Amino acid sequence: MQYRNGRHGERLSVLGYGCMRFTRSGTSIDLEKAEKEILLAFNSGVNYYDTAYIYPGSEVALGEILERNKIRDKVFIATKLPQYMISSSKAVDKYFNEELSRLRTTYVDFYLMHHLTDIAQWQRLKGLGILDWIDRKKASGEIRNIGFSYHGNSDNFLKILEDYDWDFCQIQYNYLDENSQAGVVGLKAAAKKGIPVIIMEPLRGGKLVNLLPEKAKQAIAADKRGWSAAQWGLRWLYNQSEVTVVLSGMNSLEMVQENVKTASDARAGDFTEEDFKLIETVKREIGASEKIGCTGCRYCMPCPKGVDIPGIFRCWNTMYTESKKGGRAQFFQTVALTREPSFASQCIECGKCEKHCPQSLPIREKLKEADRDLRPLYFRIAIAFGRRFMVRKGRKKKTT
Ligand code: SF4
Ligand code: SF4
Repeated sequence: MQYRNGRHGERLSVLGYGCMRFTRSGTSIDLEKAEKEILLAFNSGVNYYDTAYIYPGSEVALGEILERNKIRDKVFIATKLPQYMISSSKAVDKYFNEELSRLRTTYVDFYLMHHLTDIAQWQRLKGLGILDWIDRKKASGEIRNIGFSYHGNSDNFLKILEDYDWDFCQIQYNYLDENSQAGVVGLKAAAKKGIPVIIMEPLRGGKLVNLLPEKAKQAIAADKRGWSAAQWGLRWLYNQSEVTVVLSGMNSLEMVQENVKTASDARAGDFTEEDFKLIETVKREIGASEKIGCTGCRYCMPCPKGVDIPGIFRCWNTMYTESKKGGRAQFFQTVALTREPSFASQCIECGKCEKHCPQSLPIREKLKEADRDLRPLYFRIAIAFGRRFMVRKGRKKKTT
């Protein structure tokens, strides 16, 4: 196993265990199976275990496995505050204490504000006194590192990053998301500040393995080194020295073995020109099934009316390269729940964006099409509820 540095000298295994995909048996986690997988990972050098309050049964299972095998003090536990469920400072303590109890521990090594998509959510938490709370927990040693996991756009990521002296952050990042979500811009900005970056969705929830177009699979199979699609995705990440830990939601011994091998072999800066070409081929083949050739470059931004043009197009493409449900879910997370609404329906057709688009895309026309596809009536209703719940009061603008 290879290790990269945490902010306070921790040696973090480059492969982290994502504990949200344990195999289930009926409604509960198959604890015996999960234990075998975790122990294989632990004995192979994996020391970073990521869970969250809202992953059903995950904190409890992890706590039990670590305690039973007496390895709690030999690993780093990362878990998350469900910030979207918090409406008072008392609630922060309630959730945190419950998490300690579930995990059978007295401290959390890496604690994250879960699922921020917008600076406004962080500001709301500050309004509830989270900064004092963090200071107290760090002083008492109950929290060793404080960070946030993120799913919004790169602009908001940079704002959150700059707003506090974070110890680490967690972003969705893979070769398809190089220019979306926090993206490579966010990765580099965090690394420049000396903040470890934990990567989630390194294989886009399996899309970069199971849902690759046939021609992309053929390109991978034709390469003489015989790396699997998963290895290509992970190696692309390890090639970047700014990446600290790559989380993988492993739920088989074979998966643990293969990922451990990749994490032991792959070095930063290893990729050759041919390797990058192969990744480009795979991306091109995925792109062939997309609705619009938006590269996510963001030259069209900012839109004077706040429309998240690349964000909307990315989700629209996801509807056709992955699934309609997947694209809409992504839209819900990354576009619909920002504090300031950023829907295509806000476009006034000024045309400014089209003047800057290097792909010469008919943005205005395509935004209308994308909006119709992404937001059928029932989904608009769901979004309205979601905004009421996640984007707390104080919003003045119209959202549709
Ligand atoms: S045409 Fe629409 S999307 Fe483009 S910049 Fe103007 S308002 Fe924004
Ligand atoms: S400028 Fe064009 S290609 Fe770039 S993000 Fe905007 S719409 Fe996409």
